[in-house]
Amino acid sequence: MDELRDLYQSVILDHNKAPRNFGELEAPDLKADGHNPLCGDRLTLHLMLDDDERVVDVKFSGNGCAISTASASLMTEYALGKTKDEILDTKEHFHDLVTSNPQEEADTSGLGKLAVFGGVREFPARVKCATLSWHTMEAALNSDGQGEGEVATTE
Ligand code: ZN
Repeated sequence: MDELRDLYQSVILDHNKAPRNFGELEAPDLKADGHNPLCGDRLTLHLMLDDDERVVDVKFSGNGCAISTASASLMTEYALGKTKDEILDTKEHFHDLVTSNPQEEADTSGLGKLAVFGGVREFPARVKCATLSWHTMEAALNSDGQGEGEVATTE
């Protein structure tokens, strides 16, 4: 568990300091805003999809704590090249991981680098910081691309 905690902290620090895919797209196909009132994290997600509903470009922007920023950064890295269905499946898996019992072995199969967020299980107050970007991704993927976009909240 100490190993996971160390890895968790170093990945959070790295992605918070140098977030991947940070910014906005000029004409996104889909977008959503996310808000975690518990911590004050705010996030905007922009997506471009191809005809097979595969993510071909993704950017995020906003203001949040280190965990929410790192989670969004890792999520956008993961989502590039994935289909809507793959991403929604992984969202469920990620959510199950971070809300599982820290005393039990984490099911991280297939999560790749996202597995380090198993470390957040030891900090229950920060779970919503980790899941905000995934709630926002789900809202964007399920939106119709019209209007001002969806607003996701962790409440
Ligand atoms: Zn936060």
